[in-house]
Amino acid sequence: MKYGLIGYSGKMGKAIKELFDKNGHKLVYWKDSEKEEEIEKPEIIIDFSIKSAFLETLRIIEEKEVPLIIGTTGLDENDFEKLREISKKVPVIQSFNFSIGINIMTELLKKMNDFIDDSYDIEITETHHRFKKDKPSGTAILLKNIIDKEVEEIHSKRLGSEFGEHEIEFATTGEIIKLTHRAYSREAFTKGVLLSAKRINNLENGLYTFKEILMR
Ligand code: NAD
Repeated sequence: MKYGLIGYSGKMGKAIKELFDKNGHKLVYWKDSEKEEEIEKPEIIIDFSIKSAFLETLRIIEEKEVPLIIGTTGLDENDFEKLREISKKVPVIQSFNFSIGINIMTELLKKMNDFIDDSYDIEITETHHRFKKDKPSGTAILLKNIIDKEVEEIHSKRLGSEFGEHEIEFATTGEIIKLTHRAYSREAFTKGVLLSAKRINNLENGLYTFKEILMR
């Protein structure tokens, strides 16, 4: 497949290109904060860049009319409204976390709602490398929204080169349950991006989560 990459020189951009190269896909359009180049029209565009580039990304998708996979975090409800709008013209897959493991964890978390009552204290902690710009992580917000009970705040740690750890603790008197997911490398996310790229051209126009793609 011929693909475009927005944020190509970033940590995720490089990791995506490495995996896509290995699988025989060709980068034909790339963009970052300083450079934009196209050698052929891409069949899909992948955006792992920065929230401030979001409107530019939409303009590019509008102009090229190609499906979009977007993993950039920090998007708000206003941005989602715009994604819904553009997804009337092309398929869009969005997720704050393209790891298969995290998406399995969201299913376990939903199940926890059946068992956890008011006797439990619930805490969410996310840990990421020191360069991560948004806080709390998009994934931590996603996990918080699944839990039926009130979780007052998300604890965020920025530590060294940690790829990403999310932990939810459910504690009552006498015992504690911990659900933890840890990404060992960026491959945790890039495998999900590759899976999405393989499936996106078979989708009707619309806005899809990575989990919907995974469960197909
Ligand atoms: P990074 O800082 O290493 O890279 C950011 C990239 O965006 C750079 O290449 C930079 O040049 C580019 N950029 C900045 N302004 C731009 C503009 N105006 N137009 C185009 N490109 C621009 O960050 P990273 O670790 O690679 O992460 C990128 C994004 O992906 C972040 O939002 C991060 O939170 C998110 N992320 C999402 C997932 C997921 O599974 N959804 C996983 C990891 C990271």
